[in-house]
Amino acid sequence: HSIFANILPAPEDPILDPRGAVFVTVAYNKDPSPVKLNLGVGAYRTEEGKPLVLNVVRRAEQLLVNDRSRVKEYLPIVGFADFNKLSAKLILGADSSPAIKGNLVTTVQCLSGTGSLRVGAEFLAKHYYQRTIYIPNPTWGNHTKIFNLAGLAVKTYRYYDPLTRGLNIQGLLEDLGSAPSGAILLLHACAHNPTGVDPTLEQWEQIRRLIRSKSLLPFFDSAYQGFASGSLDGDAQSVRMFVGDGGECFIAQSYAKNMGLYGERVGALSIVCRTADVASRVESQLKLVIRPMYSSPPIHGASIVSAILKDRNLYNEWTLELKAMADRIITMRKQLFDALCARGTPGDWSHIIKQIGMFTFTGLSTKQVMFMTKEYHIYLTSDGRISMAGLSSRTVPHLADAIHAAVT
Ligand code: PMP
Repeated sequence: HSIFANILPAPEDPILDPRGAVFVTVAYNKDPSPVKLNLGVGAYRTEEGKPLVLNVVRRAEQLLVNDRSRVKEYLPIVGFADFNKLSAKLILGADSSPAIKGNLVTTVQCLSGTGSLRVGAEFLAKHYYQRTIYIPNPTWGNHTKIFNLAGLAVKTYRYYDPLTRGLNIQGLLEDLGSAPSGAILLLHACAHNPTGVDPTLEQWEQIRRLIRSKSLLPFFDSAYQGFASGSLDGDAQSVRMFVGDGGECFIAQSYAKNMGLYGERVGALSIVCRTADVASRVESQLKLVIRPMYSSPPIHGASIVSAILKDRNLYNEWTLELKAMADRIITMRKQLFDALCARGTPGDWSHIIKQIGMFTFTGLSTKQVMFMTKEYHIYLTSDGRISMAGLSSRTVPHLADAIHAAVT
């Protein structure tokens, strides 16, 4: 008799889990149809539908392999010092900010975006007086669990307006306005997942003023820097606005998308403080948070990132490859929009070209999604989110046919 006999299987329903991109892929893999299409994946694909390893990453790895001085000793608890400095510079800006120069920023290497969020959450639960974090509605499905498990209470603020398929700025400002002073606020730095809807710079400024006037604590999730617009600086503007005003903020960075390092699990958590003395005390406590979780971070991914960020040639090559990925996604948006216009599909589809980043929040209902899966073998999460990176010129017509059939 198994001591685990009473354990129930975890839910694995691909269609009914509203955000289960992983579960969608399970269903996709089981489908024998030759025209099947997986638009659930949260990873970049080439025009041929293949995963992509950046050429610059291959070059950096070659350099690392040839360097016989590299050993496999443990990294410090906070990771590579170089990597941490370069990561802070990447998100805060090259001539960055008095914050870096004044040693106001403490950065620790973490396990990609997820790990950075979790370390930040654990630190806050232990050392911050406000235990409530507000996350946008909707948001990436993992946010609620990450913050809850760290011991924070999770509430939502209004974000997406299904009628306009854009930002509900009024609702957002009202909800932040009624949040208790000091509350933590999760913000997507750019390319909001799953909606693809970002505030304009003017709206960011409105949000910033409200946050500062109410002493809320901004926690940026930056999972798509450079991947959204193709510009690393452009996609960091929201964060830089907040750091520029001298107030505190948290930033979780991921290199999964913008360097295609998904499985290497490389990212960073930066905490911007008001004084260098506070920043160094914060860092000492971050070590105590990290030590019992995983002791110290892995070497390989962070070595690749450092090699690229500190070499001018590699860095330039990276920006070109990054822009090419972003441009392909933007092209897919145009092609899908044009294909729906050509079919005279009822409704306004301009949000497909207005939204930003990897995903389009189509506005299709769960029922319509189920129809597309059943009749057209197209797999997407039931909230109607499609991964533009999973599309190609070859598959756009099939998707447009399916959407057309679903709404008519
Ligand atoms: N935040 C958001 C909004 C994301 O979309 C993702 C990736 N899907 C992450 C964080 C974390 O990804 P990773 O842990 O792979 O860096």
